[in-house]
Amino acid sequence: MRTVDVAVIGAGFAGLSAAHALRDGGAKVLVLEAQDVAGGRVKTIVHDDGLAYEKGGQFYCRDMTNIAGLVEAYGLTRRDVRKEPGVVAMLGGKRKVLERDFLEHHFFEKIFKADPHRPGSLGNWVRSLGLDAEAVAMIESGCEEVLGRPIEELSFRSTLECLSKFESFENTMEYCCAEGLGTLAGLMAKELGDGFQANAPVSAVGRKDGLFHLATPIGTVAAKEIVYAASPVVLRRIDWRAPQDEWLKRHPNRFVAGKMRKIVLRYGKPFWRGSDFGWLGQTDSPSGLSVMDASNVEGTLNVLAVFCGGTAAVAMDGLPDDAILAKVMNIIEPMLGPQVRQPVTVVQTNWTDHPWVGGGYATWARPWETEDPWSPMRQPHDGLHFTGAELAPAFPGFIEGAVRAGRDVAARMLQRR
Ligand SMILES: Cc1cc2nc3c(=O)[nH]c(=O)nc-3n(C[C@H](O)[C@H](O)[C@H](O)COP(=O)(O)OP(=O)(O)OC[C@H]3O[C@@H](n4cnc5c(N)ncnc54)[C@H](O)[C@@H]3O)c2cc1C
Repeated sequence: MRTVDVAVIGAGFAGLSAAHALRDGGAKVLVLEAQDVAGGRVKTIVHDDGLAYEKGGQFYCRDMTNIAGLVEAYGLTRRDVRKEPGVVAMLGGKRKVLERDFLEHHFFEKIFKADPHRPGSLGNWVRSLGLDAEAVAMIESGCEEVLGRPIEELSFRSTLECLSKFESFENTMEYCCAEGLGTLAGLMAKELGDGFQANAPVSAVGRKDGLFHLATPIGTVAAKEIVYAASPVVLRRIDWRAPQDEWLKRHPNRFVAGKMRKIVLRYGKPFWRGSDFGWLGQTDSPSGLSVMDASNVEGTLNVLAVFCGGTAAVAMDGLPDDAILAKVMNIIEPMLGPQVRQPVTVVQTNWTDHPWVGGGYATWARPWETEDPWSPMRQPHDGLHFTGAELAPAFPGFIEGAVRAGRDVAARMLQRR
């Protein structure tokens, strides 16, 4: 049996960041990752063309200093994302060119003025605003893309709490990492040496003689403390055996994970340049679908990223990839023109109901919760600590948030030593 000071469950950016900080603080750490690679909701693949494709989390901006610092520290390349004016919207089947995107139009200016303790769903609040049907449809679709759920299924309080922790909304899609942020996660895991173990899902946790005992395919790991660094939705995959951890069996029911499918389309030429399609296309049918220019500014990488969240993700569930691509093309052709049908490379990833991360982009509290279900996870429970993008002190639900949350929990643990 291997014994460590801290066992970290999950090698997303939160778990990796916590592990590095704890190790730097002198703790003996072992990160146990269920999947064959580190990164979690960030996943990079390299195609035959030698280019890195981001299947999950991808963008960051200048205010996200922790992830930007990691890209630099590991010698990877920051690349600027092209973002030109012009949002094309399909609303009620009609094509319109907007100056701002679906959410900027009505959402942000209103939500920050609302009562932060308002009970009920985000949808309930949106309907209370007295906006016209088109404005409501725009908010609904924008939210479904960014939050991944129908707005009826999201708690207003949880959404506002998340947004209020954003330090800036300026251009959150400013940069990418040329080699891929999944590559960065891989390097961080590698640097941990034998402190990182892939293909090691933790299936049960008990407590014995003052130590946690974690059941994994590589045998039992004993640890003085645990950092759980994954979505609360997948807590249910672990059999929590100690009486004091009994609540963790019920806790996942208080959350929902986002439904999300991401499709990356690469083109030989950026045929949309110079047209009224600047950087973003959005539609209310299906709600939650958007397409954005994720190309580099040099014009050597011409990529559109299609995000299908909420209703759009559900509409595509269970269909084969080629049927989904055909559906998506029918939706985005009116925005971009017929050349959109000729991508050189297509990479599709379905994050909906992902067994190890729950879904994408983030996990949310259900609207009918009377108490904040995140509160119990913000405190330690006799050596059991929680972290993850959603528990971040800033930029929750984002990669920057994951790094900050991981570093934050480690700092609190080291302080108490
Ligand atoms: C399609 C998509 C696009 C996104 N776009 C962006 C973006 O552009 N910018 C941005 O900042 N954010 C984006 N995000 C969100 C961002 O990727 C996440 O918020 C962040 O990566 C979450 O990190 P985490 O470490 O908290 O959790 P996760 O990445 O979910 O990591 C948790 C890890 O724990 C592991 N695990 C779970 N259970 C167990 C177990 N029992 N035993 C062992 N291991 C376990 C999982 O396999 C996983 O590797 C996107 C997400 C998706 C899905």
